Amino acid sequence: MAKKVLVLGEVRDGVLRNVSFEAIAAAKQIADGGEIVGALIGNNVSQLASSLVEYGADRVVVVEHPNLASYTSDGFSQAFMAINEEVKPEAIVFGHTSLGKDLSPKLASKLQSGLISDVTVIEGNGDDALFVRPIYSGKAFEKVKTKEGIVFVTIRPNNIAPLERNTSRTGDVVSISVDIQNLRTIIKEVVRKAATGVDLSEAKVVVAGGRGVKSAEGFEPLRELANLLGGAVGASRGACDADYCDYSLQIGQTGKVVTPDLYIAAGISGAIQHLAGMSNSKVIVAINKDPEANIFKVADYGIVGDLFEVVPLLIEEFKALKV
Ligand code: FAD
Repeated sequence: MAKKVLVLGEVRDGVLRNVSFEAIAAAKQIADGGEIVGALIGNNVSQLASSLVEYGADRVVVVEHPNLASYTSDGFSQAFMAINEEVKPEAIVFGHTSLGKDLSPKLASKLQSGLISDVTVIEGNGDDALFVRPIYSGKAFEKVKTKEGIVFVTIRPNNIAPLERNTSRTGDVVSISVDIQNLRTIIKEVVRKAATGVDLSEAKVVVAGGRGVKSAEGFEPLRELANLLGGAVGASRGACDADYCDYSLQIGQTGKVVTPDLYIAAGISGAIQHLAGMSNSKVIVAINKDPEANIFKVADYGIVGDLFEVVPLLIEEFKALKV
């Protein structure tokens, strides 16, 4: 049966995050010919509605309010519940981002629905859809099917390809007015710790360093390689604990989960907690001077050597290729 699916367009720094378009592609599979409705929440965000339509939404419902300028779970849940009331969807799709992870359980509880989180693949369409999600830190996968009620899903960034953008698509954009009040949290100021650049959780290339990088300065060649490949820098907890870089770069069980096309691990031993955050990357290249390092068990390509020799050689080669 065709379903009406509501998709959250997630906005960061005034732009839609790519996972929003991936969520629309996921919604198409769930909708099975039904309507896709985009939800936009924030302050001054309505101009982004056309992008959701170009990537496949049939229409967009917007809630704008000064109290939504920064994310709070109280404010965004009030806004989303109003959109939900307007649209009455049979399914909801969010990105499995920090925002999605915070907001979706709260909404699922309000809607008395289940929640299938961190989905990496959807097999089949509509009522027959099977949602595949990693469990036990990525060591196994489970396939989940819904029986009844609202199908509420969060999708892991970088796993479901967005539909091709079609700039000639058109769709209605409706704004609804909601008085966002009674916030228990007021964001006064946002102070950024991490350097700007490619978002680590959405990057197609990640160059990650571990304790083998030996110092904060040791991360410089990794940064250069990441910039050259249009990617982001990540780190093991070992490197963060040693103060070589900020914890916002940590990848793993207690850090970010990434699924880039290319993951380069330099000076990382491959502890199970690190693998939990990167082992689903499409191609893994490991650079380690210990041939017995655990990281080589998950690597597609292994380079046994000193990263301070290997990384500059890679930089030289990629520069020569003019990537
Ligand atoms: P090490 O294990 O010290 O490895 C350094 C590697 O660098 C070695 O393999 C060495 O051979 C290599 N090396 C050294 N010099 C060079 C060189 N010049 N060239 C090439 N290679 C070199 N870890 C995470 O990463 N993410 C998590 O989210 C995380 N969560 C955790 C949660 C819990 C509850 C616990 C208990 C641990 C967690 N850890 C996590 C920590 C994890 O167990 C490891 O301690 C950590 O990943 C080790 O980091 P590392 O690989 O950088 O350091």
